[in-house]
Amino acid sequence: MNLINRLLVLGIPLVPKPLVQYFSRPYIAGETLADAVRVIKELNSQGMMATMDVLGEEISVREEAATPKNIYHQALEVIQSENLDANISIKPTQMGLKLDLAFCLKTFRELVEDAHKRGIFVRIDMEDSEATDDTLGIYNELRKEYDNVGIVLQSYMRRTLADTDMLMNDGPTDFRLCKGIYNESRRIAYKDRELIRRNFTLVLERMLREGAYVGIATHDEQLVWEGMRLVREFGLAKDKYEFQMLLGVDPELRKIILEAGHRLRIYVPFGEMWYPYSTRRLKENPQMAYYVLRNIFHAG
Ligand SMILES: Cc1cc2nc3c(=O)[nH]c(=O)nc-3n(C[C@H](O)[C@H](O)[C@H](O)COP(=O)(O)OP(=O)(O)OC[C@H]3O[C@@H](n4cnc5c(N)ncnc54)[C@H](O)[C@@H]3O)c2cc1C
Repeated sequence: MNLINRLLVLGIPLVPKPLVQYFSRPYIAGETLADAVRVIKELNSQGMMATMDVLGEEISVREEAATPKNIYHQALEVIQSENLDANISIKPTQMGLKLDLAFCLKTFRELVEDAHKRGIFVRIDMEDSEATDDTLGIYNELRKEYDNVGIVLQSYMRRTLADTDMLMNDGPTDFRLCKGIYNESRRIAYKDRELIRRNFTLVLERMLREGAYVGIATHDEQLVWEGMRLVREFGLAKDKYEFQMLLGVDPELRKIILEAGHRLRIYVPFGEMWYPYSTRRLKENPQMAYYVLRNIFHAG
């Protein structure tokens, strides 16, 4: 990160909320479920699938899980009634993972059960390294009972190749593979960008070779290329994998993936908790701010 970007990151808490909202508009569907449905219908009409994410992260008391849980139930209902090509992604700490593991598992079970009845898939997002073991534990419990649930692995984690093997040894697995977004220590995570890429390719190859379903979640064109190379090499049918991108990021790459004939799912975050999500995205990629300012001033 260069000096200007670092200063931008330090300055984010000082940025007025309306300005953060302005910067983040392309990356968030809106505050309500209706906003998410509108965006997903548009994506579906352009040949893309979607996954709904109710914004919000770690809760501090069990009662706080009730609101996002209800919204997820409503989301499942609307996906079915409106016949949307969409599924849902859930953050375990939002359902109390770090508070009460049994409560979190129960909450997930209810959501996965509801989704199962409606024929909808549920992705368990992966969060920071303190949550990894328990998140894998929840996935392992749920997949014994349901076939509509999947997990995420992060290629920056040194343990990921071993986790991949462990999960695949236990039966059919549905992965999302991404680089990882949290700030982890070098002891447990690769810090070198090129190593993170190489590990992504290594793990992806292992998953695809062994017949796992993979959501290849990246905007890094080199990794998209590796994904395309591997699915071609293994002669995989289009329904054995998918590419995944975040809402608002690199629309040109979306077109490239779709025009090459691959399936693409867009991660659609929505909800009242847009502020923490947006500041995290801005910290991750301060260049977002440049793009927006350039548009405001109509500079080349
Ligand atoms: C569908 C999906 C689901 C994800 N789920 C998880 C998860 O469960 N757990 C987790 O830890 N991480 C998750 N991530 C985030 C992921 O781990 C990365 O942090 C993020 O995707 C950036 O990595 P990249 O592979 O796109 O490569 P990068 O090298 O970081 O990005 C490549 C290029 O894409 C653009 N870009 C990337 N991210 C953004 C952004 N946010 N805003 C604007 N431009 C951007 C930039 O132009 C950048 O140069 C998910 C990502 C996607 C796409």
